[in-house]
Amino acid sequence: MLAKSVLKAFKSDANNNSDIALENGSRIAVIGGGPAGSFFSYFVLQLAKRIDLQLCVDIYERKNFPVFGAAGCNMCAGVISESLIQALSIEGIDLPPDVVQRGVNSFVLHTSSDTAVMHAPFKEMRIATVYRGGGPRGASNVTWKSFDNYLLELAKSYGVQVIAEKVTDLTWINDRPQVHTAKTTHEYDLVVGAFGVNSPAGELFEKLGFGYKQPGGKKTYNCELDLGTDFVSNTLGSAMHAFLLNLPNMDFGALVPKGNYATLCLIGKKIDSEFVTYFKELETVKNLINKGDGAVPASCQCSPLCSLGAAKQPYGDRFVFIGDCGMSRLNKDGIGSAYRTAKAAAVTAVFSGVSAQDFRRRFWPMCKAIRMDNQFGKLLYLFVDLVKKADFLTRGVMRTTKIEQGKENSKRFMSMILWDMFTGSAPYRAVFFRSLNPRFIASFIWNILLAFGREVEVTPYHTEDIEEPSMERTDLGKVYNDGEIIVRQGEKGNCMYVMQSGDAEVVQIGHDKKEIRLTVLTKGDVFGEMALFQEEVRSATVRALGKVRVIVVDKRIFLKRVHEDPSFAFTLLQKMTRRIVNLNAAMKERRRSGREKLTLPVLIGEANVAPDNYESGTAIDISILGIRFLVPKGTLLGSKEDRESTEFTVILTLSDDQKPIEVKCQSRYFLDTEGGIEIGANFVDPDAQIYQPLRQYLKNH
Ligand SMILES: Cc1cc2nc3c(=O)[nH]c(=O)nc-3n(C[C@H](O)[C@H](O)[C@H](O)COP(=O)(O)OP(=O)(O)OC[C@H]3O[C@@H](n4cnc5c(N)ncnc54)[C@H](O)[C@@H]3O)c2cc1C
Repeated sequence: MLAKSVLKAFKSDANNNSDIALENGSRIAVIGGGPAGSFFSYFVLQLAKRIDLQLCVDIYERKNFPVFGAAGCNMCAGVISESLIQALSIEGIDLPPDVVQRGVNSFVLHTSSDTAVMHAPFKEMRIATVYRGGGPRGASNVTWKSFDNYLLELAKSYGVQVIAEKVTDLTWINDRPQVHTAKTTHEYDLVVGAFGVNSPAGELFEKLGFGYKQPGGKKTYNCELDLGTDFVSNTLGSAMHAFLLNLPNMDFGALVPKGNYATLCLIGKKIDSEFVTYFKELETVKNLINKGDGAVPASCQCSPLCSLGAAKQPYGDRFVFIGDCGMSRLNKDGIGSAYRTAKAAAVTAVFSGVSAQDFRRRFWPMCKAIRMDNQFGKLLYLFVDLVKKADFLTRGVMRTTKIEQGKENSKRFMSMILWDMFTGSAPYRAVFFRSLNPRFIASFIWNILLAFGREVEVTPYHTEDIEEPSMERTDLGKVYNDGEIIVRQGEKGNCMYVMQSGDAEVVQIGHDKKEIRLTVLTKGDVFGEMALFQEEVRSATVRALGKVRVIVVDKRIFLKRVHEDPSFAFTLLQKMTRRIVNLNAAMKERRRSGREKLTLPVLIGEANVAPDNYESGTAIDISILGIRFLVPKGTLLGSKEDRESTEFTVILTLSDDQKPIEVKCQSRYFLDTEGGIEIGANFVDPDAQIYQPLRQYLKNH
């Protein structure tokens, strides 16, 4: 599957006949330094570097992101979806703890009469909450950083220049676009629109007349509630809270926990101040945002536009539009759409060209996929509307969810549908087809019938149910403690892992049931990817050495991204290649390491023998695989009748006050010689941690 996609991509590049291609020294202007603009700039420079293409990229950004309040903020709920976190971890972009406000591991669904908790697959912190700007107005004791600024700095680290000015006009001169600010005018080979839907910049492009029309937007409401860290942790926990309420004005309402604040986000047809006041007073909502002394006033609030999805003609010769001003998903994962469209535009610009034809061929399919998916989204939202309006359906949904969540290994159809709908982790299309599963429909109908006409008791919601004690508030992924097995050889697997912190050893269990340590993994390494490509069974065991944090990448999310963007697999291929190179080097080193002759005093003791009773002997040669030593006849070992293989501890006594080296061996043979009994033994740890220092010691003596 992977090989096919990569091959297809190379074939289409080989056939490339763009008449407007980027060359060394080409200049790109990116209008807007939000997620779309930063992602594009980062990827275009990264991809160009791979083919030794030198580009100059300028980002025009009018906002200063580290500033508090609206002046530094791109106004959103600040939820980074699980699919985006997983994709970014493979791309090598980790969200640092000072950018993450909270790792989210579950969803709590509130109706007017009930609550249901949905846990993330693998009980992992899969979703991040962030501040887009510096944080709420008036915030104090700030230890966090802006998400948008983090991405912008990442782009800058690749050589992007940020022009902190507002773009005021665009003109066309010498077959090239010109970008104007109050102070400057520059000519470019490509202009990338990444200005979102809350800016008049779209009109500047519309007037150029190549057909671009920016997407419509709907008004929303966002506010930051200063509830205090304790209240947020005890009342909301590490869960997103979504409201399934029969309110015609509102399509979507959620309460998003951060550090000491929680963000209330309402999206719908008519979200005005009157509706917001009414919403905050609802019993279901009040309990979550009231500290007992009345409703907490908003420290910061805004009513930005939310993109309605698709721009008309989001590309032209030397123009392309990404993120909200180009194409984005309905109501969900706008930052994820910014990443996907930015990457598709960057791949097209570097590997194909920057003509309208190039963007139609390589960039437009991604936009079409999002647009088509939004159609399924519309159908699903119609159904959600129906559920909200019909009380018996709402009860059926809650009952089915709770039953599924109560069983450890059940097929969680309803939970998965709700999880993916609310987190935006899977395409709407996938959610739609999952909802047609006959088993799911049957169980849903059954639960509707059982819930019909019966009062459902309000289930108290306890944050302890969802907290993961081993995790820091801002950690993402999953923590394993020292010695814990992350994947086990021989077990089936359908996910891969990206190391976030700590070390883990990869061991293989041989026919003799002995472990062979293959390698030690550290931050940034990936493992378990073979289960995604072909084998479903793990070929080795990975065990934590100390505390380890990993991000789990789902098979479905990974393969979908590879299908959409074959270059996505490049970083992974790079890592796999590096691993093979290292393995080859280790094998070569092993082959080079011949047997070394030596005469070194050793102490030998069988397993379970106290060190006081160890016997003296002499090591006579050593290799990476094992050791040969002599023990005098008449000693316990020397008079051993039972010559079967046995485990020994051998202590090599070194001169020059060096610490003795202790190693575990397994004897392979005993031989009567004139000098004593010769014992040949293998190292139990075949990686022979001691071997290198010992060899070094022998070299110096
Ligand atoms: C209420 C609400 C809640 C949301 N919640 C979420 C969520 O939880 N998770 C999620 O993934 N998405 C969410 N979204 C969507 C998300 O905010 C957008 O999809 C995302 O910000 C799009 O990124 P972008 O880079 O395309 O545009 P933006 O983030 O809007 O960035 C555009 C940038 O362009 C700059 N700019 C504009 N005009 C000019 C100019 N003339 N000159 C210079 N610079 C200019 C702006 O200053 C801005 O920095 C939400 C949206 C709303 C409205």
